[in-house]
Amino acid sequence: MTTVTTDYLIIGAGSMGLATADWLAHHSDASVQLLDAFSPPHDQGAHHGETRLLRQAYGEGSSYVPLARRALELWKQLEVESGETLFLPTGVVNVGPLGAPFVEQVAASARQYGLALDSLSGDQLARRWPGWALDNTMHGGFESEAGVLYVERILKCWRARVERCPNVSLATGAQVIRIDAGEQGGWEAHCADGRRFVAERVLLAAGQHIAPLMAGLGIELPLTRVRKTFAWYDGDARYDTANFPGFSLTTPWGAVYYGFPDIDGAGFKMGRHDSGQPLPPGEAMPGFGELEDDVSELQQVVDRYFPGVGALRFGAVCQYIRTPDEHFLIDEPLPGLIVAGGFSGHGFKFASALGEALGLWLDQQCRLPELALFGLSRWSPSQDQPS
Ligand SMILES: Cc1cc2nc3c(=O)[nH]c(=O)nc-3n(C[C@H](O)[C@H](O)[C@H](O)COP(=O)(O)OP(=O)(O)OC[C@H]3O[C@@H](n4cnc5c(N)ncnc54)[C@H](O)[C@@H]3O)c2cc1C
Repeated sequence: MTTVTTDYLIIGAGSMGLATADWLAHHSDASVQLLDAFSPPHDQGAHHGETRLLRQAYGEGSSYVPLARRALELWKQLEVESGETLFLPTGVVNVGPLGAPFVEQVAASARQYGLALDSLSGDQLARRWPGWALDNTMHGGFESEAGVLYVERILKCWRARVERCPNVSLATGAQVIRIDAGEQGGWEAHCADGRRFVAERVLLAAGQHIAPLMAGLGIELPLTRVRKTFAWYDGDARYDTANFPGFSLTTPWGAVYYGFPDIDGAGFKMGRHDSGQPLPPGEAMPGFGELEDDVSELQQVVDRYFPGVGALRFGAVCQYIRTPDEHFLIDEPLPGLIVAGGFSGHGFKFASALGEALGLWLDQQCRLPELALFGLSRWSPSQDQPS
C-alpha cells in the first residue's frame, strides 16, 4: 500500500480543515495533504443545510468578538477574491424573555466592543418584523451587521481554490482509523483502505472522530456527538429576506432555537440549538421524523411565534460535537498534533478566522492569543472559563 509524506497533514476536509488548507495554500510553500472520509461538501458531518448564522455581538461570551470580527473581514475578502456571494447581510435578532442570559450577553458583548445593536421590546420587534408574534414579556437585540453564510457554497469555493494549488492535495474516501507516532518523529495516519499518510505536523479536524482517534493515542477528550434536527417551512412574504432577519430565540421555558428568513425560495428554516440525542461516533443517525419529538419540538415554536409560517416542507438531521461548556476545543495535546473540534453547534461563522489561526499554528508554530480560550487546560480546576 502507498505511503504519502508531506510537511503537514490535515485530517478532516470539512469546515475547519478546508479553511486551514485554503490559508496554507495562499500563505505557505509547505506541502499539505488533506484527507476526508467523504467528498466535501457532504451531509455526513456538520456543514450541510445550506446556511449558517454569523453573529458578532456574541451571546456565548464577549471573548469571541475579536475572532468574529476577523472572520467577517475574511469572509468579505473571500467573496471579493472568488467573485461569489457567500454572505447575506440579513441582520440577526436575538430574542428572549426579559433577563434571558443569552440576550443580556449579546448586549454586553456589543457594549464592550462598540458593535451596533438595537435593543427592542417585544412590541417593537413585532411592529418592525410582523413575522414575529411577541409581547413585552420578551425583548431582543438586533445586530444589523450580522447575517447568513452560505456554508456549502463556501466549502465548494475553498475546495476549488485548494485544488488549484500544486502544494495541496486532497484525498477523498480516506477514512482515518488510527494515528500513530512516526518512527522518525511526526505522525502517521492509517486509512481504512490501507493508505498511510506521514507528516511532521498534523491538524486533526475530523468532527465526530477526533475523540476516538485521540483515545487511540491515550488522550481522552470531553466530546459528545449529538443528533440535531432542523426543517424548512412554507412562509408568506413576511419571511422574505427583505422583511425578516436571521434569529436566535430563547423561549420562556428555556429552550433555544435559531432560524433564517426564506432565502432563494428555500423556505423559512428553523432548528433547535439546545438538547438533541447523544450517540456514539460512527453510529448511523435516525433520519428526520424517525424520533417522536422531531416535528413537535419545532412546530410548537412555529405555532407560538411565527404567524405567517405554514406547512413543513422537509426536515434534515445534522450533528453537533459538544464540549461540556460548549466552548471550542482547540489545542496541541501532543507535540505536532493539533486538534480542532467540539464546535458545539456555533463554529462555522469563525471558520475563516480559525483557518488563518490554525494555518499559522501548523506552519509557524505560532498560537494566536485568541485561541487560549479553547485549551484543554480549562478543565483543570484552576483555569478561568471564557467570559
Ligand atoms: C444543524 C446545524 C446548524 C448549525 N448552525 C450554525 C450557525 O448558525 N452558525 C455557526 O456558526 N455554526 C453553526 N453550526 C456549527 C457549524 O456548522 C460547525 O461548528 C462546523 O461546521 C464544524 O466544523 P468541523 O470542521 O468541525 O466539522 P465538519 O465540517 O463536519 O468537518 C469534519 C470533516 O471530517 C471528516 N471526517 C470525520 N471523520 C473522519 C475520519 N475518520 N477520517 C477522515 N475524515 C473524517 C468528515 O467527513 C468531515 O468532512 C451548525 C451545525 C449544525 C449541525
